[in-house]
Amino acid sequence: MSSIFDVGVMSRRSLLGGLAATSALVLLHPFSARASANQAHLRLMETTDIHVNVFPYDYYADKPNDTMGLSRTGTIIDGIRAEAVNSLLIDNGDVLQGNPMGDYMAYQHGMKDGDVHPVIKAMNTLGYTVGTLGNHEFNYGLDFMFKVLSGANFPFVCANLTKGQLASDPKQDDLFFKPYLIVEKQIKDGAGKESPVKIGFIGFVPPQIMLWDIKNLEGKAQTRDIVEAAKAWVPAMKEAGADIVIALSHSGIDGAAPSDKMENASLHLAAVDGIDAIFTGHQHLVFPGPKSWDGIANADPVKGTLHGKPAVMAGFWGSHLGLIDLLLEKDGNSWKIVDFTAEARPIYHRDDKKKVVADYADKKDVVDAAKAEHEATLAYVRTPVGKTSAPLYSYFALVADDPSVQVVSQAQTWYIKQMLADTKFKDLPVLSAAAPFKAGGRGGAEYYTDVPAGDIAIKNVADLYLYPNTVQAVAITGAQVKNWLEMSAGMFNHIEAGSKDAPLLNNDFPSYNFDVIDGVTYQIDLSQPPKYDSSGKPINPDANRIQNLAFDGKPIDPAQKFVVVSNNYRAGGGGNFPEIAADKVIFQAPDTNRDVIVRYIHDQGTINPTADANWTFKPLPGTTATFESGPKAKQFLTAVKSVKIEDAGDGADGFSKFRLML
Ligand code: MN
Ligand code: MG
Repeated sequence: MSSIFDVGVMSRRSLLGGLAATSALVLLHPFSARASANQAHLRLMETTDIHVNVFPYDYYADKPNDTMGLSRTGTIIDGIRAEAVNSLLIDNGDVLQGNPMGDYMAYQHGMKDGDVHPVIKAMNTLGYTVGTLGNHEFNYGLDFMFKVLSGANFPFVCANLTKGQLASDPKQDDLFFKPYLIVEKQIKDGAGKESPVKIGFIGFVPPQIMLWDIKNLEGKAQTRDIVEAAKAWVPAMKEAGADIVIALSHSGIDGAAPSDKMENASLHLAAVDGIDAIFTGHQHLVFPGPKSWDGIANADPVKGTLHGKPAVMAGFWGSHLGLIDLLLEKDGNSWKIVDFTAEARPIYHRDDKKKVVADYADKKDVVDAAKAEHEATLAYVRTPVGKTSAPLYSYFALVADDPSVQVVSQAQTWYIKQMLADTKFKDLPVLSAAAPFKAGGRGGAEYYTDVPAGDIAIKNVADLYLYPNTVQAVAITGAQVKNWLEMSAGMFNHIEAGSKDAPLLNNDFPSYNFDVIDGVTYQIDLSQPPKYDSSGKPINPDANRIQNLAFDGKPIDPAQKFVVVSNNYRAGGGGNFPEIAADKVIFQAPDTNRDVIVRYIHDQGTINPTADANWTFKPLPGTTATFESGPKAKQFLTAVKSVKIEDAGDGADGFSKFRLML
């Protein structure tokens, strides 16, 4: 399959700068070139997980970002349509939430009668045939969702979302949406003759919406297992005359054995008789593609198949267009698939230095459709949405409990308690782990969070949480909590008791691995060596830098179970923290930590990020150590109550030096 795509890459590059005249340079897909008189090439195109990203713009950072934007995907759609004699465009869900434009529409603008949501206005310019729902469609409630979807000039299908209880026979389920749609499309065969093909589309949402959006859905909706719903409805589609059946699965690819209401069920869905091709999504990954798919039986990430059937996942935020090309052949009165290809085509590439380079200009119709809301969103992220009763800064995040880390833990704890309220984990105590992201270092002497008390804007949240991580929680023992903190304490050099002005910070230890755990209290004894090296290997197994670790005022019970809420990086084993890995994960949120902070601010109105000093250094009388921070740290010297810090003059590279009186 390589040659045509190589040529495709060349033609795309050559389009740079002269994007209007795409069709003149387009090469036909081989199926369109080779289809004979009784054969036809049908190209199916997918967008997925757009998350309101109409513009190539990161509203959190308040700057352009060339890895995203339906305005760019829209540009390639035109060219890609032109490569095929017959084509259709579908969307696979997660449309209306996930960036500040989505929050602006939900929280500030609202959906009044006659309003059309900007992401829908943009999609309406592109000629979609059908869409399905993603889990995030439910984040702002059912009313909001229905208002948004009603503005679309294309229908939505979803076979596993019911009003109220499930029926004993899935085909009797009282569904919110039509389970499937059969589109009769006139397609041109190799001889140029048009004839109809009946293409069936069936949609699926992750059943976990009943957990993730319980507050919006409880008593109003229910979900059915994806594979179970497919087994009921696909035969009905065949009976209704579908020549081919395409699954729109807002669900990822997971090699685990099938289980009831499995979240990422697309692999097992592909095995259902009668389904011919699968559009997937939800995981924000690329399939076919090189990463994440190793060792999944019955998935071919080179050819792009699941159980031998064509399948694709088109990244996220408009990063890719997913393509499934079918060569159909007349089979009596029906059509059968005689060949196929699958591809995820990107809107950007990385140069030799890994820098992102845009491959396309914006599509004007898409931009124009949502321009007013884009401008309004820029104003929204720059204007206050809440207040902070204390300054939010990270100048001392590595030497004292700190407001920029504290507020992240407050939001994570607030969120996970809601998420676990109806689960078997509801009675476990909740702890929260968070680390400073913006703490000087290679970022330089200005690279700190610094938001004064008073108004707080959405763009400040990017400062608190730089990465688009998602929330995850683990269930671990008190002993494992202690070792988590022993690993974090590798942030600090070994300081001899009584020594003067030794450098405090281990510069090889990244600040994002300096997790502070809230909900327990502890001291760090710098006179002991670190227990672990940076790869998590015990180097001083008997060291106990973490002292007086207490929960609820009493020494922690090493056997007690705790929930610790953190992010997908840490819970998945990132940073090699001892025993912290995917097998401990009890909750994988669909929400980013950043979104959770925004929701927390909206919910609270005024946040109080004052650090609670739940961790301190163990006093070492007569001992001092030095560290560097930004010069602006000086104004907060007296605000740090848990340890005495004094100005120690200038540091290197524009940093200032400070002395810690241990
Ligand atoms: Mn998504
Ligand atoms: Mg704290």
